[in-house]
Amino acid sequence: MQPHLSVVFPVYNEEENVPILLAEIAKALDGKPWTYEIVAADDGSSDGSLAALRAARAQYPNLRIVALAKNSGQTAALDAAWRAARGDYVVSLDADLQNDPADIPAMMQKLEELGVDMVIGVRVNRHDTFSRKLQSKIGNGVRNWITRDQITDTGCSLKLVRREAIDRVKLYTGMHRFLPTLVRMQGYKVAEMPVNHRARQFGVSKYGAMNRAFRGLADCLAVRWMSKRVLDYSAHEEP
Ligand code: UDP
Ligand code: MG
Repeated sequence: MQPHLSVVFPVYNEEENVPILLAEIAKALDGKPWTYEIVAADDGSSDGSLAALRAARAQYPNLRIVALAKNSGQTAALDAAWRAARGDYVVSLDADLQNDPADIPAMMQKLEELGVDMVIGVRVNRHDTFSRKLQSKIGNGVRNWITRDQITDTGCSLKLVRREAIDRVKLYTGMHRFLPTLVRMQGYKVAEMPVNHRARQFGVSKYGAMNRAFRGLADCLAVRWMSKRVLDYSAHEEP
């Protein structure tokens, strides 16, 4: 049966986080009015993440696992999960427990209330190092300036979107950060809302400052080019 909502997350060496995350998702969504499935994309983890996911399937029959053949990066893993998702809506989050699944019901309500196609989180009480927060501030500023968009916190992975909208977006490496801009470019409506953020307790961050900054700049220029060249027409077939 097709669920209303797919909860998707990429996993790269998050073995301690996986069981806690699944329990948090179930706590947030069991008994709520939306039927849901969980799609975990294991991005070639070298620890026990895949085994932990497989073991969890007995407890969570609505858990589906997509396994990437080797570590292919966060966008690739998210893309694999999004393409596998069957829900009318898809909500993505990180597997490291920094995002809080308890925010998902309020995001669903906001989406329905405002009649928009996508609701993205803004991490209000951000629990990262000072240097990470500074990088984000500069990153968001430069990104909005170059792409001419107004996204407060595009690095927040907690994003809820109509599946049809992401189906229309072709993703490239690193482009998960531009998803709201790419979705808006296709004519869909995007809203923001404040969400919870927590410190990473288990495992380590997979990024350094340099790989984030330089790639990010090239991505901005690509997105700006795309926004100028986006096909903008409406047509109908004559009866
Ligand atoms: N991740 C992934 N493949 C990678 C790097 C990261 O699937 O090559 C996942 C990771 O397991 C986590 C999410 O992407 O669920 C975000 O990664 P991380 O927490 O390291 O990023 P940060 O919060 O430091 O930006
Ligand atoms: Mg993280």
